[in-house]
Amino acid sequence: MIYYKTEAEIDIIKEGADILGRAHGLIAKAIKPGIKTIELDKIAFDFITESGGKPSFKGYNGFPGTLCISVNDQVVHGFPSNYELKEGDIISVDCGVFWKGFHSDSAYTYPVGKVSEEVSSLLKATKQSLYLGIENAIEGNRIGDISFAIQSYVEGFGYGVVRELVGHGVGKKLHEKPEVPNYGKRGNGPKLVSGMVIAIEPMINLGKKSIVQEDDGWTIRTSDRKPSAHFEHTVLIRKEKAEILTTFKYIEEVENSKN
Ligand code: MG
Ligand code: MG
Repeated sequence: MIYYKTEAEIDIIKEGADILGRAHGLIAKAIKPGIKTIELDKIAFDFITESGGKPSFKGYNGFPGTLCISVNDQVVHGFPSNYELKEGDIISVDCGVFWKGFHSDSAYTYPVGKVSEEVSSLLKATKQSLYLGIENAIEGNRIGDISFAIQSYVEGFGYGVVRELVGHGVGKKLHEKPEVPNYGKRGNGPKLVSGMVIAIEPMINLGKKSIVQEDDGWTIRTSDRKPSAHFEHTVLIRKEKAEILTTFKYIEEVENSKN
């Protein structure tokens, strides 16, 4: 069943999402060659818990981290580890915050120092596909309209759209109905209604769409070992225009100060 949120519940999700956005900003600041991904996890854990929130992922089906950290050919669900970031890596950081009974969920893929032109284009297109999906997340449309917008845009670049993992409803549970695939047909799937809160999260591969799971039982990587990007916002369906509840503004402040 799909849960529709009241305006009071939306306000709570926005409060949690602000903590989440600030945690992402701290991570953006800390990412540089030489830092271990486990150190990023600690930054996020400390900030979220000191803010009075709870990391949504920690303990979720036994997941060990506050962050899912997926480097280069890892798509999603990587563990924070002693791996030291190096110049030219890309790192997907996915985080959730549980605040006053509700979750928010967002992800961002960062370049570490300078990355190749090819990889930089993948990041740009994946982020853009997220916003194209969001443009279609309005009342009266269907989930397939979001899916189609993402798929048709990124496939135009020859990228692969991961099929096995999808976006989802967000609320009292981290993963609620409906599923939000990043591929599909216009006019297909559940109808979008005001009050639905969904996470839209394109996972886009530079090469082929196929993935494999590592032996740790969690980490997903591309089967051709080419890099993959992942961006995610939690959004609210409204009549004319979706409202983005999570925010990249703290990340973008850091990015702009680096340029
Ligand atoms: Mg996420
Ligand atoms: Mg998600």
